[in-house]
Amino acid sequence: MASSFLPPERLLLGPGPCNTPREVLKALGRPTIGHLDPAFLDLMNQVRDRLRTLFGTRNELTIPISATGSGGMQAVLSNLIEPGDRVLVGVHGVFGKRFADCARRLGAEVVEVECTWGGTLDLSALSAAAEGRFKLVGAVHAETSTGVLLSPSCLGGLREIADRTGALLVLDTVTSLAGMPVELDERGVDATWSGTQKCLACPPGLSPISLSPRALEVLEARSTPVTSWYFDLSAISKYWGAERAYHHTAPINMIYGIHEAMGLALSEGMDERFERHTKAAKHLCAGLEERGLTLLVQESDRLAPLTSVRIPDGVEDAAFRERLLEEHGIEIGGGLGPLAGQIWRIGLMGENATKATAERFLHAYDALSR
Ligand SMILES: *Cc1c(COP(=O)(O)O)cnc(C)c1O
Repeated sequence: MASSFLPPERLLLGPGPCNTPREVLKALGRPTIGHLDPAFLDLMNQVRDRLRTLFGTRNELTIPISATGSGGMQAVLSNLIEPGDRVLVGVHGVFGKRFADCARRLGAEVVEVECTWGGTLDLSALSAAAEGRFKLVGAVHAETSTGVLLSPSCLGGLREIADRTGALLVLDTVTSLAGMPVELDERGVDATWSGTQKCLACPPGLSPISLSPRALEVLEARSTPVTSWYFDLSAISKYWGAERAYHHTAPINMIYGIHEAMGLALSEGMDERFERHTKAAKHLCAGLEERGLTLLVQESDRLAPLTSVRIPDGVEDAAFRERLLEEHGIEIGGGLGPLAGQIWRIGLMGENATKATAERFLHAYDALSR
């Protein structure tokens, strides 16, 4: 018999994926059933309900797209954008750039307001650029490339710009969902996409999305068909809705996985979970600073699930991360774009968001620095 693949033991402290809890691995391994089986249809309803709680929304169209986070972005933007639409994107890292690039490829006229990487968005620059009408105003809630979280007041500022310009507010919540409060309805977010392999602690493969009634109106008022057959939400929502009309085969076992992962988050309690992510990150940040390292982001803008720290002088980035992986079994992320070779990105997501896990990294750092 051909041999099976046995993954090495790793502590995943990068920007995602994080380690999958045993309960979720078990759920993923349960027997596959048909995607139109009544038991599966019941599971789909439960998944939608749990997702609404996690997102803080009553939005009817709240479903996991069969794709990774970037696929969710493609789905949301392909459905909301028509050629010639004006889109305003606040960019403060790699994922904001990706958002703008995706909108541009869909034929939008994109106004990109680039702000300092490692800082929050510059609302006055965005406001100044917001002249005339826009279809969408968008940003990345939790910038995993830098470790910055947009504050509720920043989101309020974006909502105001969207109101003034007649736009929908669209947010990438890939690294905030289940790690930091998202609260779509309270914050007036019209459309979002997320991922499973960040704070939800499920393997990659699904992208939870949600669209407000206002976003659905925009979808219904389209004058051109959605060019992506696979991501056409009017067809996908018929599969997830009352019609149960076949569109594509849902990744059955991944749906078991997200159901279990959301169950774990809900039984922990969302506030408790956010608090745990915050405390773990504070412990890590304090430990890094005690060792003389410099954090990239100022305290008020920090994203708890992901900490970015400047690589100390004299330490070789690739060699350090290689030894960390080989000698300690710990994976962390390097910098992206202009921050490549400048920073490390340390994720404390899902069940890794504990002081004990932060300590494991700090001890490994000490051992490698001796
Ligand atoms: C990881 C990530 C993505 C992309 O998700 P994939 O699952 O890798 O496609 C998008 N946005 C943010 C903020 C991310 O952290």
